[in-house]
Parts: sequence; structure tokens; C-alpha cells
Amino acid sequence: MTKYDIIIIGAGIAGMTAAIYAVRAGKKVLVLESQVEGGQIINTINIENWPGDLGISGADLSQKIRAHAAELGAAFDYASVTKITQVGSAWEVLGDDETFTASALIIATGTNPRKMSAKQSASAGDKPISYCATCDGALYKGKPVVVVGSGNTAKHETAYLENIASKVYHIHHDDPIPVDAAAVFVAIGRVPGTEFCRGVVDLDENGYIISDENCQTSTPGIFVAGDCRTKSLRQLVTAASDGAIAATGAINYLNQT
Ligand SMILES: Cc1cc2nc3c(=O)[nH]c(=O)nc-3n(C[C@H](O)[C@H](O)[C@H](O)COP(=O)(O)OP(=O)(O)OC[C@H]3O[C@@H](n4cnc5c(N)ncnc54)[C@H](O)[C@@H]3O)c2cc1C
Repeated sequence: MTKYDIIIIGAGIAGMTAAIYAVRAGKKVLVLESQVEGGQIINTINIENWPGDLGISGADLSQKIRAHAAELGAAFDYASVTKITQVGSAWEVLGDDETFTASALIIATGTNPRKMSAKQSASAGDKPISYCATCDGALYKGKPVVVVGSGNTAKHETAYLENIASKVYHIHHDDPIPVDAAAVFVAIGRVPGTEFCRGVVDLDENGYIISDENCQTSTPGIFVAGDCRTKSLRQLVTAASDGAIAATGAINYLNQT
């Protein structure tokens, strides 16, 4: 089994930026991704606040950063990580049916859309569920749809769908889904993808990994970057910044042990 210096869990902007910093410091790096490189930003058509590239799409930005990291020597693999375990001075990472090993870890698993309650899901029956009006709205042209949620994202999704659907019901968390809706668009917030590291690193009451501005976790050898950590601004530039800081922490940790 190949042993890596650093395994990065999650190939969003935070994880891929961490890979760039870690390989440039001469470390052997593996990035594990459960879905597709780019994470949350992958379906955004027009990013207006990424410095130096006004209007770049999320897919193009993700591909550029992935190519950059791979060109410098980072390895990428697909696996959904479900467990991390310390074995002596190393970390074993269980992803699907495979175990990967490294001396240090960077967790960069971002956030996922919050799901409807069991009661509300039951009232939706077998209606299609979407978490992205921009991605899936066009499939329901001329049909009634429902948006679940009461925050700004839900309002934005509702306004977008009003130009496409015959009717948009806007309901709150836990209200029953209208019988005639053709699809359900859920916008009730996001939750960090950190369940697999519960008990290994300290989490806050909402499941975010507790860290300081150095992206260190409560456990030596494990660093955290991006939206899955406690922080005040969850954006692309802060994800990239965390990636650089977490990689630097991991590099220093490895150089001192
Ligand atoms: C619709 C939308 C639009 C946005 N627009 C902007 C914008 O215009 N500008 C801006 O600055 N920010 C924007 N944001 C916020 C920005 O996308 C996030 O702050 C940023 O993408 C966070 O990056 P990340 O790498 O921390 O996490 P993520 O992008 O969430 O990436 C985490 C990655 O980890 C993977 N992963 C998760 N769990 C596991 C596991 N167990 N095993 C393996 N892999 C795993 C995921 O599949 C994902 O690819 C937007 C967010 C959304 C949802």
C-alpha cells in the first residue's frame, strides 16, 4: 500500500489549493474526492468575486485548479471517506472499500445541503428533489413546483423559478408539500460533511470542525480547510486561503516529526 505524506479529504477549492502548497513543498500528496472536483461551486455559471477572473464559471475554475495541482504532482482518487483511524504515528483513511495511509491529514469536506425532515419528506412522496434551481429548474418548465425554506437562498430560488414554472409554492421547513407540485426545491441551509471524524477531532454544536486561524484541529497531525471548519466567512477566497494555511501547518508538522 502506498503511504502518502498528506492525504487531503475533499477536492473543493480548499482541498485542491492545499494540494498545490503541499506538493510544492516536496510532499507526497493524495486528494480523495467522493463526487466531482470543485465541490459546491461546480454548477455556478458566473463567479463575480474570484480575483483576477471576472465571470469565470465554477466548472472552469475547478478544472483549472485541479489541473494546476495535478501538473505539480498531486495524485487524485475517487472515494467517499467514512472513517479515519490513528495507527501508531500514521492515519488510516477508509474510503469506499479501500484503505489509504498518510502521516498527516487535511480535512476539506465542505458542506452539503440540509435535507428535509422525515415528516416533510414523507409528504413529498416520490416527487423529484433538487437542491439547485439553476441546475434543474428548466426540467419543470410550465409545471408547478415548490421551494422549501425561508432564508435568502430560498427567496433567490423562488425568484429564479418564477420565470420558468407555471406556479411556485414557497413553503417553510416542515410544511406539507403541495400535492400538485411536480418537483421540490429544498433551500434550508447547509451542514458540514464531518460525521466521519466525530470523536477524532473536536466539532462545535453544529458539526463544524473547531480550529483556529492556523487551521489546526484539536488532534495533532490533522488540519482542516474551507467551509467545514468554524469561521466567519465561507467563500471561495477564504477556502483557498485555508487550503494554503492548512497545508503549511501539515508541512511544518511533518518536518518536525
Ligand atoms: C450555489 C452556490 C454558489 C456560490 N457562489 C459563490 C460565489 O460566487 N463566490 C464565492 O466566493 N463563494 C460562493 N459560494 C460558496 C463557495 O462555493 C464555498 O465557500 C466554497 O466552495 C467552499 O469550498 P470547500 O473546498 O471548503 O468546500 P466544498 O466546495 O464543499 O468542497 C468539498 C468537497 O469535499 C467532497 N467531500 C465531502 N465529503 C467527502 C468525503 N467523506 N469523502 C471524500 N470527499 C468528500 C465534496 O464532494 C466536495 O467536492 C457558493 C456556494 C453555493 C452553494
